[in-house]
Amino acid sequence: MKIYMNGELVPEAEAKVSVFDHGLLYGDGVFEGIRSYSGRIFALEAHVDRLYDSAKAIALEIPMTRQEMMQAVALTCRENDTTDGYIRLVVTRGVGTLGLNPYLCKTPQVIIIAADIQLYPKELYEKGLSIVTVGTTRNLSEAVNPRIKSLNYLNNILAKIEAINAGCMEAIMLNSQGAVAEATGDNLFVLRGDVLRTPPVNEGILEGITRAAVMKLATEAGYSVREERLSRYDLYTADEVFLTGTAAEVIGVVNIDRRQIGEGVPGPVTCKLEKSYRQYANANGYPING
Ligand code: PMP
Repeated sequence: MKIYMNGELVPEAEAKVSVFDHGLLYGDGVFEGIRSYSGRIFALEAHVDRLYDSAKAIALEIPMTRQEMMQAVALTCRENDTTDGYIRLVVTRGVGTLGLNPYLCKTPQVIIIAADIQLYPKELYEKGLSIVTVGTTRNLSEAVNPRIKSLNYLNNILAKIEAINAGCMEAIMLNSQGAVAEATGDNLFVLRGDVLRTPPVNEGILEGITRAAVMKLATEAGYSVREERLSRYDLYTADEVFLTGTAAEVIGVVNIDRRQIGEGVPGPVTCKLEKSYRQYANANGYPING
């Protein structure tokens, strides 16, 4: 595999980061997880826009234009013969001193990895996920805003540990006010009747790109889609619950905190949106080969 590092494609074994990089020392940097389907990079522009917004929020100046970044992602896919893959785009603050001062880091590091996608097993989509709400709340927006997709994922990792310790693959995180926020790497939707609801962006979530696509597809399919504050009560009493994310796409949730959701299998709307999202993602995107 060849890794893009600051304008060059280097063999994987040589793709190394300094121990003085503030991405490593402090989680000081931003990233994106992107998918390509059938030779096209899905929602590349939206991912690059979110990357630059995250960077802006942490006062990190990415040393290339958005257009150059999109071309670099496509180039990395071409060099690795990636058609259906998972792309990790990382920008670290770069090499600095052992002190915190980010202004002593001269050059941000841009890293692009075009890897294979590790798909969740198919049966997970058929059976649905059993998950739990956990005690680790989402970071306070006033401290480190969860809208920033930063390299510091400890908040999510702590929640993931709680989920795994409880025998589940995913956790639902609440915000500090006890409202439902999101899963550790996915957004969340709740259906009741024909109303589909998802927490608003100021409730401690990452503004997911899959979330936006699903909101659009659901609206077009005639559902009423609302961004509304949700409590655990709304989860337990939902007809259907599902998660959305670049890697997971759309996946049903059938049990939360030992309450069965709906019929205990992914519901019809979840299945419909899962299918239409996959079709949409497969049919749209930035062409890898120009
Ligand atoms: N929330 C978090 C915390 C995430 O890390 C991600 C991305 N993995 C998502 C939601 C989903 O975002 P997207 O649909 O853009 O992948």
